[in-house]
Amino acid sequence: MSSEDARSSLIEQVRERFGARAVLTDPADLAPWLTDWRGRWHGRADGILAPADTGEAAAMVGLAAELGVPLVPQGGNTSMVGGATPPEDGSALVLSLRRMSRIRSIEAGSAVVEAGVILADLHTAAADQGQRFPLTLGARGSCTVGGLTATNAGGTQVLRFGTMRALVLGAEAVLADGSVHNGLSGLKKDNRGYSLDHLLIGSEGTLGVLTAVRVKLVPAITSRAVAWVGLSDPQRALALLRAMESVTDRIESFEILPEAALRRVVEHIPAARAPLQGAHSWHVLVEATSTASGSETPEQLLQRLLEDALADGTAADATISSSEGQAEAFWLLRDSISEAERASGMAAQHDISVPVDVMPRFMVEAAQQVERAFPGTEAFGYGHLGDGNIHFHVRAPTGAAAGWPEGNGKAVSRFVHDLVTEAGGSISAEHGIGQMKREELARLLPPARLRSLQAIKHALDPAGILNPGKLIG
Ligand SMILES: Cc1cc2nc3c(=O)[nH]c(=O)nc-3n(C[C@H](O)[C@H](O)[C@H](O)COP(=O)(O)OP(=O)(O)OC[C@H]3O[C@@H](n4cnc5c(N)ncnc54)[C@H](O)[C@@H]3O)c2cc1C
Repeated sequence: MSSEDARSSLIEQVRERFGARAVLTDPADLAPWLTDWRGRWHGRADGILAPADTGEAAAMVGLAAELGVPLVPQGGNTSMVGGATPPEDGSALVLSLRRMSRIRSIEAGSAVVEAGVILADLHTAAADQGQRFPLTLGARGSCTVGGLTATNAGGTQVLRFGTMRALVLGAEAVLADGSVHNGLSGLKKDNRGYSLDHLLIGSEGTLGVLTAVRVKLVPAITSRAVAWVGLSDPQRALALLRAMESVTDRIESFEILPEAALRRVVEHIPAARAPLQGAHSWHVLVEATSTASGSETPEQLLQRLLEDALADGTAADATISSSEGQAEAFWLLRDSISEAERASGMAAQHDISVPVDVMPRFMVEAAQQVERAFPGTEAFGYGHLGDGNIHFHVRAPTGAAAGWPEGNGKAVSRFVHDLVTEAGGSISAEHGIGQMKREELARLLPPARLRSLQAIKHALDPAGILNPGKLIG
């Protein structure tokens, strides 16, 4: 049977067994799901398969395996690296998990959540029970728990609660042959060899199709306060973080940005206002929270910590939110950086990490090295200093031709990735590899690790039907 006939046969069989809602083939229904969120990759597919439960997902993957039809697992399609976009040649079908959107159970400390549940809905469901799912990011209104797990997503609370790897207590997934792995029991201790759950976390749809996960919940917060701090350099910012961490475990977020990024946010985002008078070379946003009333409030805590920092010269100036509205206004500045950067022109963007203690020096020196090597560019990093993870942007020279990031910008990205690798870091801290960084991964991953990844992929998906062309597939 030709591959085209195999795809048609799969679509027909799925429609026959599970009804019209289980397959989309109308081009208008398919279109939004065939291009990535950034609009950089455009795929083709004859259809989207959409199971309503784990049984249907298993049957669909089993049929696809029999017919040799590759599948691209997809959640909210918010991948930053083209991870959920099907191949351009139309050889694969999309397997959308969005219909699997039930919260199966919720109890003190954990919830069993289907892969298609939107992150914002999980936040609401947990809050309704006086609890909290402590991971959030800009795409929370669209991204799904399955996608977050498959990319081991991070966000702005990793400092305190870790990435998805720390928040997923077990996973249910359909493997490449259609069999189902059920790791949802929530066992705290289970040493029966390799952890399939942990292999699936961060596997970007290349080892299995996640159908549900048990996630960790923590007590809801009763209050929070956000401080905005001006300081002279990233080294002082890290010193401030270390000083805070040595006296409290209530710091949830610690984000750094340079003056130039703040300036562009204020220029391009109508509601944005600089929180401090005067210019500071660097800025830090710090959030502290509390889960109990009665103790020192987050505002009092930040006040105490910042008084010390101002007194010893670590910080040059600081202000603390006095209302929820002001806290939101500070976060708006941080959350609007990508939008303001997009509005200001083209840039090559990098999601990178280096060891936390190395990061302050890296931020300054890597920017200088890039600007020297590529005259006319402007390089800067911003983001999660406390996680050793920044978004490193290199703005195109004035007058650069359209498509610079995908053209000349590629050489810049290789240069940045080389610097990151020399510093003992990772070319993908949060967003994954997808199709965007596949070649760079193969170029820079230590051979022993690359061979292990390839061996694992081959063992779990020997026919290569899960998310071909992504990560190492
Ligand atoms: C505005 C914005 C802000 C972001 N901020 C952050 C951030 O701060 N931190 C961060 O880590 N990331 C961030 N991201 C990227 C983040 O990785 C994604 O938002 C999210 O994790 C992907 O979820 P999704 O449901 O959209 O997955 P998709 O985009 O649909 O898929 C992503 C990958 O996961 C796979 N996949 C999806 N569902 C499944 C499943 N059920 N089983 C197996 N594989 C699956 C896909 O094949 C693909 O490889 C951001 C994205 C946007 C658009």
